[in-house]
Amino acid sequence: MSDSVIVLGAGMVGVSCALTLQARGFSVTLVDRKGPGRETSWGNAGVLATSSLIPFNNPTLWQALPRLLTHRSPALRYDPWYALTRLPWVVSFLSRARARPFEQTAVALDALIRLSQPLHRQWMQEAGELQRLRENGWLFLYRSQAAFEGAAAARDVYACHGVTAEVLDADGLRNLEPHLAPIFPRALWLPGSASVDNPGAVVQAYADLFVARGGRLLIDEARALRPAADSTERWSLSTAHHGVLLAAQVVVSLGPWSRGALQGWLGIRVPMAFERGYHMHHAPLGEASLGRPVYDTAGAYVLSPMNQGLRLSTGVEWAAMDAPARGDQLRLAQAAARQAFPLGEALDEQPWLGARPTLPDSRPHIGAAPGHPGLWLALGHQHIGFSTGPGTAAVLADLMQGRRPTIDAAPFDPARFG
Ligand SMILES: Cc1cc2nc3c(=O)[nH]c(=O)nc-3n(C[C@H](O)[C@H](O)[C@H](O)COP(=O)(O)OP(=O)(O)OC[C@H]3O[C@@H](n4cnc5c(N)ncnc54)[C@H](O)[C@@H]3O)c2cc1C
Repeated sequence: MSDSVIVLGAGMVGVSCALTLQARGFSVTLVDRKGPGRETSWGNAGVLATSSLIPFNNPTLWQALPRLLTHRSPALRYDPWYALTRLPWVVSFLSRARARPFEQTAVALDALIRLSQPLHRQWMQEAGELQRLRENGWLFLYRSQAAFEGAAAARDVYACHGVTAEVLDADGLRNLEPHLAPIFPRALWLPGSASVDNPGAVVQAYADLFVARGGRLLIDEARALRPAADSTERWSLSTAHHGVLLAAQVVVSLGPWSRGALQGWLGIRVPMAFERGYHMHHAPLGEASLGRPVYDTAGAYVLSPMNQGLRLSTGVEWAAMDAPARGDQLRLAQAAARQAFPLGEALDEQPWLGARPTLPDSRPHIGAAPGHPGLWLALGHQHIGFSTGPGTAAVLADLMQGRRPTIDAAPFDPARFG
């Protein structure tokens, strides 16, 4: 068998896998129907967050649940019919919002984030795009002392995991972000986090690096994947324009499309649901600016300075991936953001809508697909796939080479749900 690998999907996760496997000596073909970084990896908030070891289903969720389920918080909107049809997933997701499974996830995600951060820096440097990286952290904003105190559990988790977090009062916040309205008596600054000014351009730059180093990038639609017959290779991929491609190994990193593709092509069931989210770019009013992304905990939105404008991203909407867009969550975020910052006109004709692909324990699948030799999974990165693509790739490449990964890969084993 050859050293050939097909990587399906050129979001942050797939491009990271392609670059890493290429550096390990594999002959890699990267396939994406739209091109690198045009989907979820384009529309995210661009935060490389050290604080993202705390997933949505953490033990504080129970306290917030009554407000969330009655649509009294902008952090969650859900389609009750979708929630009912995905009831096993919902139950499984909620069952992980307990101390022990949460702690296991926090340890695993923290390791993946720490592995990824230096790789981002290295790749941006190698791609000549280091100017996109802002290494000045991000901010959690609190509209009252009570709200700040209510977030003590998160600060304990950061302290326990060595995530640097600095408490700011109103003056301290004004020093960092002078254009925020004086409505936040407290803030938490995560100075070890970073952000970028255009996530899609970063993925494109990593893909350009892959091509410049001899990698093969095909803009094409993957139509079907099946075991290869009459071939020394294991896998056969049918594409819309390039016919049939053969490879010894295949990595599936199709983000939210992974679930449907694996089920349809190979009958593999991935317990994935979609935490959808919207964004809209706004102009600032006058000379107002932000130096780093901010998360307004009451408004449940992130406002990130991008080179397209100020990107306002919403919280979570549980709905079918292809359900029509709704406007209410973004409207609430816009109203709350206007209280916090001199936000000018909307710059996009339509809001962007994407789907965070989430597995019940909020950990991605990284590793071998059970029962399918030569098939590898790198998917389900929920809110942190832009941050953790490089670390995912490092772990996966180690597993594919039969090496012991530098972090514990067991929490990401695709066989863990049985
Ligand atoms: C509103 C919002 C804000 C977010 N903010 C952050 C953040 O600040 N930081 C962070 O780390 N993460 C963030 N995320 C999460 C992050 O964006 C995702 O976890 C990540 O982009 C997933 O990357 P991926 O490569 O797995 O998927 P994708 O980027 O979706 O890539 C999948 C690719 O597969 C391709 N594809 C699909 N089907 C086919 C097919 N049949 N043939 C060929 N190609 C196909 C698509 O074209 C696409 O390019 C956010 C997400 C949302 C929605």
